[in-house]
Amino acid sequence: MATQSTTPLLKVEGLKQYFRVNKNFTVKAVDDVSFEIYPGETYGLVGESGSGKSTIGRSIIRLYDPTAGKITFDGQDISGRLTHAQNNTLRTQMQMIFQDPYASLNPKIKIGNAIAEPMLLHGQASSYAEAKEKIQHLLEVVGLQPAVFDRYPHEFSGGQRQRIGISRALATKPKFVVCDEAVSALDVSIQAQIINLLNELQDKYKLTYLFISHDLSVVEHISDTVGVMYLGNLVEYGAKEDIFRNPLHPYTKALFSAIPIPDPKVKMNRIVLEGSIPSPANPPKGCKFHTRCANCMACCKEEAPVQREIEPGHFVCCHLYDK
Ligand code: SF4
Repeated sequence: MATQSTTPLLKVEGLKQYFRVNKNFTVKAVDDVSFEIYPGETYGLVGESGSGKSTIGRSIIRLYDPTAGKITFDGQDISGRLTHAQNNTLRTQMQMIFQDPYASLNPKIKIGNAIAEPMLLHGQASSYAEAKEKIQHLLEVVGLQPAVFDRYPHEFSGGQRQRIGISRALATKPKFVVCDEAVSALDVSIQAQIINLLNELQDKYKLTYLFISHDLSVVEHISDTVGVMYLGNLVEYGAKEDIFRNPLHPYTKALFSAIPIPDPKVKMNRIVLEGSIPSPANPPKGCKFHTRCANCMACCKEEAPVQREIEPGHFVCCHLYDK
C-alpha cells in the first residue's frame, strides 16, 4: 500500500513513444502522457489492447528509447542515453513480470539457473552456491518448493510459472516492478492467489508497482491509483476509490459497465462501444474517443479536450467537464 512520501519514485512527463514504420506511417503508441508513482504505491494502468499501456511500461524500463518526454526514477533522469553504470543500476532496480512467463523462460534451462543468471550478473550473489541458497529461499517466499530450482519450465502450471516469474523479478532486489498483464492468462481463482502474493511481497520488500491490465476488476484489487488509457493518452486518473466511486470519462464508464456483477437480481446496464479502437497511426481529430462516444458533441470532433481536476487528485480529459 502507498506510503506517505511526498517525493515520487517514478515521474513520467510528456512521454511520447512513436514507432516509424515507413516514411508515411508513424504509430503514435504513447502520445504525451504524464503521471507519478510514489514509493510503496501500486499504480493501475487500464485500457483496451492497443491503448499504449504496455508500451509505457516498456519505455519506463528502457526496453525502448522514448521519442520525447522525461522519465525520472529515484531522482535521476533516465530518459536519455544511459551510462553503463546507470544501465546496470536500472537493470537491478526495475524489473518486469510478463503475462506469459513461459515465453521468457528457456525450456532447456533449469529454473534455478535462469534465476541465478541475472543475480550473478548484477552482483546479488558472489558464487553459484550463494545464488542457489538465495533462490531457494525466494522460491519458498513465492510459495514454491526449493526443489523447483532443479526442474524445467514445462513441468509447471500457469500459476506456478507466474510464481517463478515473480521470483526471478525479485532476484535483483528491485524497488520498482512493472506487472504487464501479469494475471491475465490465469484462471480467476489463480489470479486472486497471485494478486494476494503481489500484495504480500509489496509489504515485505517495500515494492512499488506499475500494474498494467485490460481488466478493471483486477486493477481494483491491487491499485492505490488508477489511470485509464485510450489510444495513447491518459484520459482519466485519480485515487482508486474516486475512480470507482465516480468514474467521469465516457470511456471509463464503458469499461465499468462491462464488469460482471455476481448478483442475478442486479440488472447490468452495459455500454457497448461501437467499433474497435482506431489505429494509433491515424488517430481521429479532436477527442480521440469521439468516433465511439455516445456523448460526442460538435466540439469533440474539432478540439482535443484538456485535462481538468474535477475533485482533488481526480483528473479527466473530456469536453463534458469544460467550464
Ligand atoms: Fe466523448 Fe466529447 Fe468527452 Fe470525447 S470529449 S469523451 S467525444 S464527450
